[in-house]
This record gives sequence, C-alpha cells and structure tokens, in this order.
Amino acid sequence: MYIYNSQSRKKEEFKPIKPGEVSIYSCGPTVYDYFHIGNARPFIIFDVLRRYFEYRGYKVNFVQNFTDIDDKMIRRANEEGITVKELGDRFIAEYVKDAKALGIRPANVQPRATEHMEEIIKMIQRLVEKNLAYESKGTVYYRTAGFPDYGKLSGQEIEDLDAGARVDVDDEKQSPADFVLWKSAKPSEPAWESPWGKGRPGWHIECSAMSTTYLGDTIDIHSGGHDLIFPHHENEIAQSEGATGHPFVHYWMHNGFLNIDNEKMSKSRGNFFTVRDILKEFEPEDVRMFMLSAQYRSPLNFSRESIEQAHASRVRLYTARDNLLFLLKSAQEHEYSLADIDFAAQIDMGKQRFEAGMDDDLNTAEAIGALFDIVYACNTMVTAETAASAIRHALDTLKILTDILGLLVKQPDELPTDIRDLAQKREEARESRDWKLSDELRAELIALGYTVEDTPNGQKVSKAI
Ligand code: AMP
Ligand code: ZN
Repeated sequence: MYIYNSQSRKKEEFKPIKPGEVSIYSCGPTVYDYFHIGNARPFIIFDVLRRYFEYRGYKVNFVQNFTDIDDKMIRRANEEGITVKELGDRFIAEYVKDAKALGIRPANVQPRATEHMEEIIKMIQRLVEKNLAYESKGTVYYRTAGFPDYGKLSGQEIEDLDAGARVDVDDEKQSPADFVLWKSAKPSEPAWESPWGKGRPGWHIECSAMSTTYLGDTIDIHSGGHDLIFPHHENEIAQSEGATGHPFVHYWMHNGFLNIDNEKMSKSRGNFFTVRDILKEFEPEDVRMFMLSAQYRSPLNFSRESIEQAHASRVRLYTARDNLLFLLKSAQEHEYSLADIDFAAQIDMGKQRFEAGMDDDLNTAEAIGALFDIVYACNTMVTAETAASAIRHALDTLKILTDILGLLVKQPDELPTDIRDLAQKREEARESRDWKLSDELRAELIALGYTVEDTPNGQKVSKAI
C-alpha cells in the first residue's frame, strides 16, 4: 500500500514498524458541541483506513482522543452553567450517537485529556529536564530553539515564525515560536496540581502524551485534517521527539477540507451544519457515500446535489444486491458455464481495481468506481441461467468490499407477513390475468412503501430504499 506522507510530500510504500500490525493515532473532536459535517470527514476516512488495513490482515491499534479541556470547553460550560466535566460527558455521548449513525466504529482506545493529567505532566517534566521547556509565572513553554527539527512537517522556519509574530506585552515567551505546554490557572477555571502550581495543559501536549501512553514512542500513522499540520502536529513532533528521543510518526496523513456550496463552512456565513442537523434530512449512509466519493486529500464540496447523487449511487448498489438475492432464489446449482466464468472474471477484476485504488493512498473514489463496475456486471450479465455459485460469488465480493467502506449495511428486509400476503394475492391475480386487481394490489403495495417490479423471473417486491 502507498500512503502520501505529508512530511516527505511523497507517496511512500507503507512498511509497518511491527510486521502485521499498524498503530494509528487520529486527532479527535473537541467535545464542546455536536461535531460538524467537516469533522465527519476525517472520522469517516480514517475509519475506512482502519477497516482496509484489517481487510489486508493487519491487527490495527487505533486511538482517537477526545479533547475535553480547552478555552472553548471552559467558555461553553460557563455559558451553560455546568462544569467542564459535565459538558465533556454530554458531548462525548452525543459524539458516540452521531458517529454510530455514520457507521464510524469506536476506536480501540478513546482517551480523554482530563483523564491523562499524570502522563501529560510527566512528559512536560521530561521536557523541562532536557531544557526543552521553561517555566514562567506558573506557565510552561516549549523552547522551539532547542529542537533543531522544528518545522520539519510544515516546512516552517523558526526564523520566519519569529519575524512574522508579534509578542504580546505580557507574554513570557522567550521566542514567538515557543508554545504553551502548561497554563497557570486563572481563578474559576478547572485546574490540576502540578510541579508548576495549579493549571491545565495546553492543547498539543495531550496528543503526544496519549499517543505515547497507548501506542509507544513511535507510531506508524498519525492523522487529522490538514489544518492540524501547523501548529498542532508540528508541536506534537517537537514534544514527543524532544521527550523520548525517538522518531514520533512514520506516516503523516491529512485530509482536505469539506466546503459547503463551494464556500468555507463557518458560523458567521450561516453555512455551518452539525452532523445532527444533516441527519435530520439525509440518510447517514448517503452522507458516508458522499464523503468517500472523493480521494481524502482533495477538497470536497457538500451540496444538496452532491448528497442526492450519493443517494442515487447507494440505491444502485442496494438494487444490484437485492436483485442478485432475488435471482439466487430460483438459480440452479450447476457447474460454471462460459458465461458464468466470464461473469466471475468481471467480479474479480472489479475487486482488483478496488484494491488497487485503495492501495494508492486510500483512493476511495476509485474504489467506489470499481464497485460500480461490479454492479454493472451484475446488472448486465446475470440471467435466469446464471449458476447459483456465481451469484453467491458476486454477493460475497460485494459484501466484503462494501464492508471496508461501511456501505450496504442494511440487511435485505424479510417482507412482513401482510406484505407477503398482498404480493401472493397479486401473483395469483396475474396468473388468472386479472389485470385490474393486479394493478390495485400494486398500488396498495406502493402506498405502503414498497416497490413492485415484474421481471422474467416473476414479481419482485422490495422495500423502497
Ligand atoms: P476539531 O474538533 O476542530 O479539533 O476537529 C476535529 C477534526 O476535524 C480535525 O482532524 C480537523 O482537522 C477536522 N476538520 C475540521 N474542520 C474540517 C473541515 N471543514 N473539513 C474537513 N476536516 C475538518
Ligand atoms: Zn491531536
């Protein structure tokens, strides 16, 4: 598999640290509100990355944190008149609901910053001991000048940062590029005891501390949106490599941004949508299909049309599967005919194209294209003569590949008894050429939310998607 590494700015062949295992740390949400549709992009993408590695036989250790202490958390908790802990508990629970709806599997570990104060403080102490951090009035700063590799991810030079920055009068930083590791407590803010007095961690240190705690000093992959490259991930490298003396991350993966109707999403523009809002109007699986319709590094535009397009694609996928299931009921168990061999070969070619796409830096757009090659083969090549085993081969392949993307998750519905009875009556009406009754029964089924198709293999009734 090839992965575009944001640090080398090249696609590199993926070589795990431990054979057969992959460690991934993904920056998670700040839990001060419902997460928005832009946040959903990395959560879905890196969920697919994890699933693809599993499909390829790796054991994946996937960690995604919850940032549950920062300025936004404190401000919101004050507005609501609740504690920061209560706010965090509430929006973690809401995150879990929306993530589940979108088919995002929970990470193996979902650590909270506030539950890792000991590890955070220890890491800062190591940096102070190594003279890579200094304290001033109860606040601890990272000394960027002490870390020669500073800037290696983002390509920023400390000198440029210094030149471009204005230093606040009351700022105790020795250099503008230095950043906060530990903030001394203001009255009425949540605070933890530390060697530097009561305070709370800066944002960047939590990811370094939790990544090391759960995945070790060096990890295979670290991911997040591209806005995190600087300063968040640059600072994580400085902290982790400074503290442990080991390389921090082998592959940095960053997703492109999601825009709304070709504009940057923002509250002030009035085009800001939480996943909770979006799911009131759209099917979660359509949102997922839409998110995967572009390679993760490209920008992605969210619009009503794009979701409608995703919906249409999803319906094609379900229709193809349900059609195969329908034909399977009457298919014969016989050796592959030449046509079956040809059909199975088309399915296998689709699978190869899917894998090649995913191996090329997780190109889900290509993978979805490959799924529709398979759908096309199913729609055009399967007949009443197709061998049952060839149909099962197509169904199995579709299942395996769509599981990687988290699509086609709904099981075909067994028809409820009353619907089956109506369908049976209509079948009988058709047999006795009572077209009027047959039409009436069709209308009744449609009104109940079902589709009715008359095929050469008989009547096909299914729940409207
Ligand atoms: P935050 O809660 O703001 O720290 O963001 C959580 C994740 O969502 C991070 O990986 C961000 O880079 C990512 N993210 C935020 N906004 C967008 C967006 N509009 N499009 C894609 N990713 C985003
Ligand atoms: Zn992070």
